[in-house]
Amino acid sequence: VTGAIAPAAEVRVFLAMGGNLGDVLGAFRRVLAALPARGVRVGRVSHAYRTRAMVLHLGDEPGPDYWNAVSEAHTALAPRALLALCQELEDDEGRERVRKWADRTLDLDILVYGDRVTEEPDLTLPHPGLAKRLFVLQPFADVDPDFPIPGLSQTVGQLLARFPDRNAGIEYVMRGWL
Ligand code: ADP
Ligand code: MG
Repeated sequence: VTGAIAPAAEVRVFLAMGGNLGDVLGAFRRVLAALPARGVRVGRVSHAYRTRAMVLHLGDEPGPDYWNAVSEAHTALAPRALLALCQELEDDEGRERVRKWADRTLDLDILVYGDRVTEEPDLTLPHPGLAKRLFVLQPFADVDPDFPIPGLSQTVGQLLARFPDRNAGIEYVMRGWL
């Protein structure tokens, strides 16, 4: 024990990938390929879900359809270091930060970071949209339906079961896309 620096323990995390511009599945594949060298070990990965873009203002034309997927991973990176990495990978895919919910080549969010529960402007954990979004819960359930969401006392599967139509807005499920 003398003089040895203990390696930081790995934490189990879940990442959400989304996008609706360009070669989105290609962007997902590039992200998953880049993560290991950046200190993030990729685990189980969901199917890819095709969903219609949300319309912010009544009368607006909806943007192109989205692809969404969820990946399990393990990392010793601290939450903000992981967030910075996510934003760097978004930038690598040419993401332009126009306004909230704008069409994007790649959105890479932290859904869950271990059992961490925090609410700060730049980082909310678990991700605030998680429980409300079928296009996140469905792929999350592919990866681990029995995972209890920290702070919510419900599993992914239980959250999903509250939706009357579990396929609402989901147009297509792509298996084996990796
Ligand atoms: P959204 O993902 O909601 O479409 P952005 O990707 O533009 O929007 O992110 C907006 C901000 O959300 C980021 O600057 C980031 O600091 C913040 N944020 C808060 N919590 C999280 C989280 N869990 N994962 C990713 N970003 C988060
Ligand atoms: Mg985001």
